[in-house]
Amino acid sequence: MTAHATTPPPLAPATVAVLSTRGLTKTYGMTTALAGVDLDLLTGQSVAIMGASGSGKTTLLHCLAGIVRPSSGRVVLSTSQGPIEVSALPDGQRSRLRRERLGFVFQEGLLIPELTAVENVAMALMLRGVGRAAAEHHAALWLQHLGLAGMEDRRIGQLSGGQAQRVAIARAQVTGAEVVFADEPTGALDHDTSRDVMQALLHATVGRTLVVVTHDDAVAAQCARVIRLRDGRIVGDTVERS
Ligand code: ADP
Ligand code: MG
Repeated sequence: MTAHATTPPPLAPATVAVLSTRGLTKTYGMTTALAGVDLDLLTGQSVAIMGASGSGKTTLLHCLAGIVRPSSGRVVLSTSQGPIEVSALPDGQRSRLRRERLGFVFQEGLLIPELTAVENVAMALMLRGVGRAAAEHHAALWLQHLGLAGMEDRRIGQLSGGQAQRVAIARAQVTGAEVVFADEPTGALDHDTSRDVMQALLHATVGRTLVVVTHDDAVAAQCARVIRLRDGRIVGDTVERS
């Protein structure tokens, strides 16, 4: 055996936590939405969050993404510049962090119906200071990558539900977001379209971390890890594959 054959392989990226929570709680008045969540999401991992309606899925996603501030506990995002305690940032800095590092795909909304597909995707880049021409060029490449070549100039209302979700995926990924959050991204779609959109989402986020809230076992089965919530706590956490 040669000397270099014994050199250990580099640490697999999947062993690095990109987003961690400790003791996360969120209460709304008398309602406890999150009752203490400790979680480490790994770089490159696709994670489904499941649970009954009202179990805290959306609240967890919003806390992870810095949309909502937890009542207690911490959310920490690891970056190449060091850890950022998302939960401690003031509102303005959290919006900037979302714009610059995170991507979002929701069941509906967020896309601007009056704008075309390419404009919707380009907007994510323009919000980060990229000029219109360059932004639209990159946006068009992502739309093509997601199977929407020829539909760049359609308004969102002229697209099917599945096509609109592909635009949302392109918009979430065009900036190179490190973590992509999706809340019931296929909730409004039929079964076949749902599977296609989920495949597109997984494909577009290879090497990134994907957190997807879903009710759909078929969607969860396509993720590497499935976390189950009940009454604001994690009651199941299975790694299907790494
Ligand atoms: P899920 O996404 O699993 O359906 P949510 O995270 O939306 O659950 O909600 C968890 C609990 O917190 C529910 O009881 C819900 O009614 C409550 N809740 C969520 N958001 C709010 C809010 N903005 N104001 C008051 N209660 C809320
Ligand atoms: Mg929800």
